[in-house]
Amino acid sequence: MSDKITIHQGQLKVPSHPVIPFIEGDGVGKEIWQAAQTIFDKAIEKAYQGKRKVVWKEVLAGEKSFNLNGSWLPDDTMQAFKDYLVGIKGPLTTPVGGGIRSLNVALRQELDLFVCLRPVRWFKGVETPIKYPEKVNMTIFRENTEDIYAGIEWMQGSAEAKKLYHFLKDEMGVKKIRFPETSSFGIKPVSVEGSERLIRSAIEYAITNKLPSVTLVHKGNIMKFTEGGFKQWGYELAEREFSAKTFTMNQYDKLKKSEGKAAADAALKTAKESNKVIINDVIADAFLQNTLLKPEAYSVIATLNLNGDYVSDQLAAMVGGIGIAPGANINYLSGHAIFEATHGTAPDIAGQNQANPSSLLLSGVMMFDYLGWSEVGELITQAMEKLFQRGQATVDLARFMTNGQTLSTTAFTQAMIENL
Ligand code: NAD
Repeated sequence: MSDKITIHQGQLKVPSHPVIPFIEGDGVGKEIWQAAQTIFDKAIEKAYQGKRKVVWKEVLAGEKSFNLNGSWLPDDTMQAFKDYLVGIKGPLTTPVGGGIRSLNVALRQELDLFVCLRPVRWFKGVETPIKYPEKVNMTIFRENTEDIYAGIEWMQGSAEAKKLYHFLKDEMGVKKIRFPETSSFGIKPVSVEGSERLIRSAIEYAITNKLPSVTLVHKGNIMKFTEGGFKQWGYELAEREFSAKTFTMNQYDKLKKSEGKAAADAALKTAKESNKVIINDVIADAFLQNTLLKPEAYSVIATLNLNGDYVSDQLAAMVGGIGIAPGANINYLSGHAIFEATHGTAPDIAGQNQANPSSLLLSGVMMFDYLGWSEVGELITQAMEKLFQRGQATVDLARFMTNGQTLSTTAFTQAMIENL
């Protein structure tokens, strides 16, 4: 018996035998998918003793698909992700050559997966470049559909760039472009709706998971209406929709102005004591510094597309996890979600039984949490913690560990299963 995951009034309905489509992925994809699926199935069996089981449904994309049927991303695959709501994927080769979009971008756009979700935490035993990696525990909500990433840009010298420049000069009175004849142009759309749906998801996540704060990371000091808008709309949203469960630093500032610092401090203290989520904001460059200086100050991060790109990689690097960082692209309104390994296809080690399946495994942990099957994620996470603490890992991590013992992909999989 198998069934579809559905969504009803914003709540996922997960049957006991859900069908979950997966893309194996190219390069190391096959090896890490086999490892991950085996571990997922064993963990589910252990957690629910046969009462729950995933019915995995392979769908094609990438090189494997192209070699089999001439299409990088067949309609059936897109349809499966639409129909079954939740899916998972390994890395895909980005097709090189004119006119073919990145497959990841195509999936994201078609399903309007507006949140790029990246949890960042440290695993004991993993070598890192910072002194206290245990203080890093953040969840990044990166806006996935807008900003300078919308791809609206024109090359310098093109007719379009010239046309845009003349429009800006003649009709909008713009005089600030330093080298107009040789400027390329990019447009940065940031909307109220786009910002609100991202920030709303981040606040709901913080409330559900009883986390202390949501930080809006932006460059509103420079880009006042786009990045500044993001911050302003975020505060307004929190005060309008979540007033019982949040306290914003905007409210704090207003209180400070009207009643003085002591009153504002008292209100903040009361809010913290009553477990309200504190909504604050920070300029992106200061944020990058602060994450190194006082990472413990941050919990849930809500940010725009480009900032989110930089922030995700810096934070992952800080915990030594760039190779094992998991991720997901989610539309919390429709329920659609694709969980994914964040690394590429690693062609240099493909087929050598060396690849680390941890990024895909931890993406699976996120997926099971999203489905409400958190027991599965807990089993997998604690097994991984045990192995890393003992120094047991694939070569990419083991070579940097003080007590490192290199395991092949299959040996790592076996060790994970034994420790579930
Ligand atoms: P990459 O992530 O594939 O490899 C970078 C380095 O990390 C390599 O040395 C590789 O061996 C290592 N590495 C990556 N994954 C590993 C794993 N699981 N275990 C051990 N080591 C691992 O990046 P790249 O070489 O720039 O890209 C290769 C291909 O992957 C390109 O076609 C690129 O477009 C694609 N790509 C896909 C995704 C995705 O599907 N999400 C993301 C990034 C790159």
